[in-house]
Parts: sequence; structure tokens; C-alpha cells
Amino acid sequence: MTSVESYVEANRSRWLDELFQLLRQPSISTRDEGIRECASLLARFMAEARIKTQIMETARHPVVYGEILRDGSPTLLIYGHYDCQPPEPLEEWTSPPFEPVIRKGKIYGRGSSDNKAQLFTYVKAVETLLRTSGDLPMSIKFLFEGEEEIGSPSLNPFVASHKELLNSDLVVYSDSHIHESGRPLIILGLKGMLYVELRVRTSARDQHSMRATSIPNPAWRLVWALSTIKGPDNRVLIPGFYDAVLDPTPLEKEAVSRIPYDEETLLRHFGIREFLPGRKTRDYYPNLVFEPTCNIAGIIGGYVGPGSKTVLPSIASVKMDLRLVPKQDPNDIYAKLRAHLDTQGFKDIEITTTHGTIEPSRTPIDHPAVAIVQESVRKVYGQEPIVFPNIGGSGPNYIFTGTLGKPCIVIPHATYDQNNHAPNESMDLEGFFKGIHTGVAVIQDLSRRL
Ligand SMILES: [Zn+2]
Repeated sequence: MTSVESYVEANRSRWLDELFQLLRQPSISTRDEGIRECASLLARFMAEARIKTQIMETARHPVVYGEILRDGSPTLLIYGHYDCQPPEPLEEWTSPPFEPVIRKGKIYGRGSSDNKAQLFTYVKAVETLLRTSGDLPMSIKFLFEGEEEIGSPSLNPFVASHKELLNSDLVVYSDSHIHESGRPLIILGLKGMLYVELRVRTSARDQHSMRATSIPNPAWRLVWALSTIKGPDNRVLIPGFYDAVLDPTPLEKEAVSRIPYDEETLLRHFGIREFLPGRKTRDYYPNLVFEPTCNIAGIIGGYVGPGSKTVLPSIASVKMDLRLVPKQDPNDIYAKLRAHLDTQGFKDIEITTTHGTIEPSRTPIDHPAVAIVQESVRKVYGQEPIVFPNIGGSGPNYIFTGTLGKPCIVIPHATYDQNNHAPNESMDLEGFFKGIHTGVAVIQDLSRRL
């Protein structure tokens, strides 16, 4: 055994004990429940690992910042979030959400994979390197926020006003899960998002439906407007919607073509007979990665209860999420949507952006750090990692690639069935330790080759 392996072996139970203390501490950002207690606990564990740590205020929930600086070396910034989603519905948990237990090789508890165990892997990787070699081969900074599960509202302003403090060569973090095939993933970006609500009011109050001969119906207005936004071929019809979409590079296309694809398993998993008509099914992953979406998340208007009610409603509304790819700008897409509705004769449809906006991110696949991290992950997992230029989901990466202007790589260690945001959230026990080994390898390899 190398000294790293024996150190990890010797400390397994102590680290699990510390992780369980973090998991016992609720940190529900949306209800401000236990946030400060969790930040203090995490800061204490970091300080005990000999990381210079401080709790820094933001407009809402504090950031836990840590650093170990070494002159003349490259700097790695590690991001993570110590907050978690509410645990409800409680009755669906096999064991209580804030009483972590291990069953069949998985650590169960709210906040386990998302994100306490995964962020803790880096704290323990740094501890391992400090104790086994007496020093770190490069500078490491930690940025752990407490608002990820509510959309990271303070993170962008925090990063924008602390660019010097957070200055680094690369940002790395572990969230999400490995591929369903069991192979590890490397994620180089996330989609952006514009979340809008379209709302139309056509009269002061609901009317008897016999007046439909002459009083406008808001649900029809909405349906007609929506039919101008996207066609049955799934193409978005807002003029200029695709203008800023970057063509994938040959390397990105090649990476996506290597993502394992099993159509039968996917169809069964989703419970559908076929993918959208007119699309070649082998395009599943290229579309997921490279195409923006325009999705109706919910639509409501008039009477939808049991039985019938012959009513002419006064209000109808629809919520939509548009997942954007580089270099689409959510504010620009919003302006284009507004202009489109206006020219199509729908000036009466109000648009509100209720959930803010998220910009898309994609770290160049030919950035030297990508090949280095790929090699580190391959060594630890003994398998070739699957590289996603970006995944279909959205998140705060753009703050690092955009505001901070640094490359950002995500290395997940949870398994596909992690149940994050849902009852019985779990973190794969061996995934936790693989994460620690990956953290050690990434730091060693980056320090030598970046
Ligand atoms: Zn989450």
C-alpha cells in the first residue's frame, strides 16, 4: 500500500463519523433551517484538517471559504454547497432523513450525495496529502456556499466582488452522479436557463360561456401564442433563437459520439414507446448536449376540477423553462420572445421571469486540465471516464466560467440511483472513498502537469 492508501484505510471510520455529523445537521436553505450551524460545523472540520478557514457573509446564507496557499504553484478552486433540499414527504423515507445510516453499501440521508459527502471528499483529500507528504503540491482554495438549492442568488455577486480572493487556474467540484453504466463522468458545462411565466387576462372576471361568441378567451389566446413559439417538428420559431448557438467542435462531437447509448434501456426507463417524431434516435445524446429546449412546465386556465363547468375564464397562464446552450444569453432570448409575441399580435400576453436567469457554460474540451483530470479519474476508477461537453441540466458553473473567467470541471461520485431532492437520498459508500482518492490524484496530477 502507498502511504495515501494506508492513511485513507486508517481513517475510514473517523471520516464517516464526521460526515455523519454533517448529515445530522439539517441545512435547509429555502427555510433557513440549520444553515449557520452547518456552516460552523463544516468550517470546524476544515480547520481541523489544517485548512485556513473563515465564514464569510453574503446577502443571505454565508459562504465557507478556506485556503492553503503555496508560492509559485498553480491554484485549484474547489466549489461545493453545504445546503440541502427539504426532506418532505417524510413518510416515504425508510430511515429518518437527518439520521444517516448505511444500508447495502449506501449512506442514506438528506444532503448525502447532494452535496455534503461529495464536497467532503476534497477536504479529506487535502487532509490526506497534508498528513502523508507533509505539504500540498499546489495552492487550494475552497468555496462552499449555502444557497445552491435555492438557485445560488448570492454566489454571483460574491464571486464578482472577490475575484482576487478566488483567483485560480481551474475550478473543480463534485456533484450529480456517474453514468448509469457505472462508468465515471467528467462534465465540462451546464445549460443555461430562462424561466418565464406567460399570463393573459382577457376580462375583469369569469363569464358564462354562452358569451364566447364575442368575449375573448384567454386559454385560446395562450394556445394560439404557444403555437407560434414552437412547431410540431420541435423547432423553436422565435426569430433569432438559434443565432448565438455555438457549433460543436469536432472534438466535442467525438466525445458525445462515445457516450454509451442503449435505446431500449432508455425507452424503458422513461416509459415511452419512441422519442420525438422525425428525430433519429441515435441523436439522443447530441441533442441532449447541443440543443436548446423550449419546454412547457405547466399550463392552467379556467375550470379543471371534477365534473363540468361551462365557464369562459378571465385568466390563463403557462410556465416555461428554456434550457440554453453556449452562447445563448437568457436576457437576449427574453427580449426575442417579447418581440416575437408583439409582432405576432400578442401584446396582451405578459411575461414575467420569476426564477432569475442562468447562463450556459462550457469549458473547452481541449483545455489542458481536461486531459489531466481524465487521467486522474481513469486511474482511480480503472475505467475510461465519459466526457460530457455539457449536460442537459442547469447550474452555477457559468459563475466560474463567466464571472470568474476560469475553466470548470465537474467530477461526480454518486451513483445514478442517488435520489437527490427525493426521499431516500443516498451516497454510494465506495463512491465517497473513490471521491477522496480522485481528489488526491487530481491535486497531484494538476500540480505536476498544469
Ligand atoms: Zn440539489
